Amino acid sequence: MRGFDLIVIGGGLVGGAVAFGAARLGARVALLDEGDVAFRAARGNFGLVWIQSKGAGMPPYAHWSRQSAALWAGLSDALSEVTGVAPALRQNGGFAFCLSDDEFARQAERVQRMHNESGGIGTRMLDRAELRAMLPQVGDEVVGAAFCPIDGHANPLLLLRGLQAGLLAKGGEYLPGRHVDAIDYDGGFTVQCGAERFTCAKVVIAAGLGSRDLAPMVGLEMPVTPLKGQILVTERVRPFLDYATHVVRQTDEGSVMMGDSQEDVGFDIRTTTPVLKDIAARNIKVFPLLREANVVRTWGALRVMTPDGCPIYEESVSHPGAFSATCHSGVTLAGAHAMALAPAILGAGLPPAMKAFEAARFKSGKINVPSF
Ligand SMILES: Cc1cc2nc3c(=O)[nH]c(=O)nc-3n(C[C@H](O)[C@H](O)[C@H](O)COP(=O)(O)OP(=O)(O)OC[C@H]3O[C@@H](n4cnc5c(N)ncnc54)[C@H](O)[C@@H]3O)c2cc1C
Repeated sequence: MRGFDLIVIGGGLVGGAVAFGAARLGARVALLDEGDVAFRAARGNFGLVWIQSKGAGMPPYAHWSRQSAALWAGLSDALSEVTGVAPALRQNGGFAFCLSDDEFARQAERVQRMHNESGGIGTRMLDRAELRAMLPQVGDEVVGAAFCPIDGHANPLLLLRGLQAGLLAKGGEYLPGRHVDAIDYDGGFTVQCGAERFTCAKVVIAAGLGSRDLAPMVGLEMPVTPLKGQILVTERVRPFLDYATHVVRQTDEGSVMMGDSQEDVGFDIRTTTPVLKDIAARNIKVFPLLREANVVRTWGALRVMTPDGCPIYEESVSHPGAFSATCHSGVTLAGAHAMALAPAILGAGLPPAMKAFEAARFKSGKINVPSF
């Protein structure tokens, strides 16, 4: 039976970031992952490091997202240095477009609310003329946009690959094809995958939609459910968009990603023509030049949603040393997961400010509407 300081269950972006962050500090880490049969948000997402709308009604989530935005460049540098894989981070700001006066008014209200609740991060409303000065290609139907200077985007597949390569480079073990069936506790943990057993002093449950079943094994609750998003990708086109936006982004390779829907349809990842058509139509209004671009791929993937859309992080009271970690923005929060959460888990535990993320909040009866 092999033993580790820390076992992270779930090799997606949340588990990968925590495992890399811990291995970087010298811990003996194993990352156990179920494999290709699983639903994996980490392989189907949009790649935004998106801060401007995160945490409406929950300031600790807004502050955590902002902390992540500040830590992201350090994560990117660490990955480049350790693995030679840079996740193509571009963090020069992001736009949320408004296609009507109504949308503009609602967006302005949201920006003001975020400012009042959680303090300013420089987000401002741009009218059409100001927007055109920054993005000359926007269409006539765009009334304006909210612009946040700390938003950005990255290549999520390079990020995932970099986190796994970084874990290995730092002496950690990535163990795919391991479905965790049971976790036993006797002061330390024994994690069981079929006939194999691994021991560890601490364990993190970061298994995306699989977390729901694992958490009760160590006295935790992770009531996550799937929320489908569909995405289209075009062929490579000449550079026209140097910023992140909430619905369209040009990748480091030149292709254009358009997204994404929010569909409560259970564990169904099929694409559907009407939804893809709506996504394309809205994005063509935003950037009419996209009318000429050929779509080369479409897909559906499942977000990992908590009841209020905010993350869960918690240490078990009945099984000290067992932690939960889940969120619906694993790209955005990768900086915080690797550079702040992992050190806390390895060290003295989660700081008091993180109590706000415990699952007990779902029993209070006051649940926010998820914010993206
Ligand atoms: C359409 C879409 C767009 C998105 N866009 C963005 C975006 O722009 N920006 C952003 O920040 N986030 C975005 N996300 C969210 C982001 O992809 C996820 O937050 C991120 O992937 C983190 O997921 P995760 O690691 O929790 O789960 P996953 O990536 O789903 O990984 C969970 C892993 O756990 C493993 N697992 C499950 N059960 C077990 C078990 N019993 N034993 C062992 N292993 C197990 C699985 O094999 C899987 O690999 C998007 C998601 C979707 C679906």
